[in-house]
Amino acid sequence: MWQRGHTAIYTNFDTYPIWYLVLSVILVLIIQDTLYYWLHRWMHLPRFYRWIHRAHHMSLQTSAFTSFSFHPFESLLQAIVLPVLVLWLPLHIGVILAILLFMTIASTINHGGVEIYSAKWAHNSSAKWLIGAAHHDDHHKKFNYNYGLYFTFWDTWMNTETPDFKERFEKLTTKHKSV
Ligand SMILES: [Zn+2]
Ligand SMILES: [Zn+2]
Repeated sequence: MWQRGHTAIYTNFDTYPIWYLVLSVILVLIIQDTLYYWLHRWMHLPRFYRWIHRAHHMSLQTSAFTSFSFHPFESLLQAIVLPVLVLWLPLHIGVILAILLFMTIASTINHGGVEIYSAKWAHNSSAKWLIGAAHHDDHHKKFNYNYGLYFTFWDTWMNTETPDFKERFEKLTTKHKSV
């Protein structure tokens, strides 16, 4: 579809201003995070959980391998976002590759079982919105909290963040194996 000109993918840096390059990355991450939050809530409804999302939750103790452990249908639902986005949202090919790399690294960090972010970040006005291993580990252990993908916006707004998460996160040091 790209080669036939049916997508909005572009390869020349001059096609759009450089600020759009940065904006497009932020836009994709926010769109992806929003779609995933609601898809994730939907997949936790009992009837869908059993046949789609249960496979991922079989990892009670997460590891880097958990980031690749999904039911094929869930993989499809997660992967389809980018190909659909490029049909109408102009994205530089380099941005697409950078996002794919970011997706992989973020998923590995969040399932790594070891918190790599500083405990001070819990109250930093920007860093507190980032999801790390401790945040997603809570999801695997407690099921009904922390549904977000990259950011904590939706969990905060929808009141689905583990109630004592920030307090416990603050007590973490880099030596702890998540909470
Ligand atoms: Zn889940
Ligand atoms: Zn997970």
